[in-house]
Amino acid sequence: MNLTDARGRVVRYLRLSVTDRCNLRCRYCRSGTEHFIPHPDILRYEEMLRFVGIASKLGVNKVRITGGEPFVRKGCADLLVMLRERLPRIDLRVTTNGVLLEPYVPLLARLGVSAVNLSLDSFDRAAFASVTGRDVLPAILSALDKMLSVGLPVKINVVAVRGVNDGQLDDFVHAAKTLPIDLRFIEFMPMGSGTLWNEKNFWPADEIREEISRRVRLTPVTGGRDDAGPARVYAVEGGRGRIGFITSMTNHFCASCNRLRLTSDGHVRTCLFDDREYRLRGMLRSKRVSDRQIGEALRRVCALKPVGADILKRRVGDKAVAERRMTSIGG
Ligand code: SAM
Repeated sequence: MNLTDARGRVVRYLRLSVTDRCNLRCRYCRSGTEHFIPHPDILRYEEMLRFVGIASKLGVNKVRITGGEPFVRKGCADLLVMLRERLPRIDLRVTTNGVLLEPYVPLLARLGVSAVNLSLDSFDRAAFASVTGRDVLPAILSALDKMLSVGLPVKINVVAVRGVNDGQLDDFVHAAKTLPIDLRFIEFMPMGSGTLWNEKNFWPADEIREEISRRVRLTPVTGGRDDAGPARVYAVEGGRGRIGFITSMTNHFCASCNRLRLTSDGHVRTCLFDDREYRLRGMLRSKRVSDRQIGEALRRVCALKPVGADILKRRVGDKAVAERRMTSIGG
């Protein structure tokens, strides 16, 4: 039995946020008032594993660990080990800012993590510190080197914000030419009340692609879409890497969306833009509730998965599309 919605979409991909805490203060991600989920409300790893086990029996075959910053939560590496032990065939991935990553790289390679998504909005040390609030670029670049040296596939995610990193295309193109990575530009999304998003700082993917095309020839990779996700991917002439665009705002990919999110406080979100959340924490904590009952609840929730583009259309002006901040959803 699969997790299928009313439009026939099948949910196979879980984004699991292990914490809402982060060691960076990226301006586009954490704008608005700071409030954290109280510790007792954060799921224990055993409860997360229970959820993943149930979801995998219902057809979920890809799990991404995210946050907040996953590696700021103690024992995150143990969670990865336990996930691999319990679900040896699952496609396991991690999204991280890379600050604490380097010591874990050999483990991730050993566990057969399919790819690490590294969020990196600038290759310029001062610009990086100004976006993220911390001068830690060297540690991240060192983790990147290590991943490449052990052959761990890397995708670099750049949130494209005009006035922040629009002057750095030469650096990004250089990285895609010289490193065997996928470098993907993500359109800035108006997430979280207090979002800094506005028409002026929004930098659409089509414009980025045009500007890059003036520097280097881009050729669409067959099919135009990355097999593993929503990015439109291009080969870079003479390059070792590729460049991709995630057009969450200008060209939605809701029709093929196969995602499900579990926040660190145990809420299921079936669409990034939909603030309707389904609280499963109580069920996951209870020994009296069986896995079958939780699976049934999950099936009912997934059946109601909405179309994010419709929610986006109802947004007014520069307001946020969803109240919850990215740092507490997990991206
Ligand atoms: N801390 C980890 C990291 O930096 O990758 C994982 C969590 S972070 C919330 C996940 C992804 O969401 C990152 O790639 C981040 O850049 C992206 N993100 C955060 N806010 C965003 C926004 N408003 N629009 C687009 N992407 C955003």
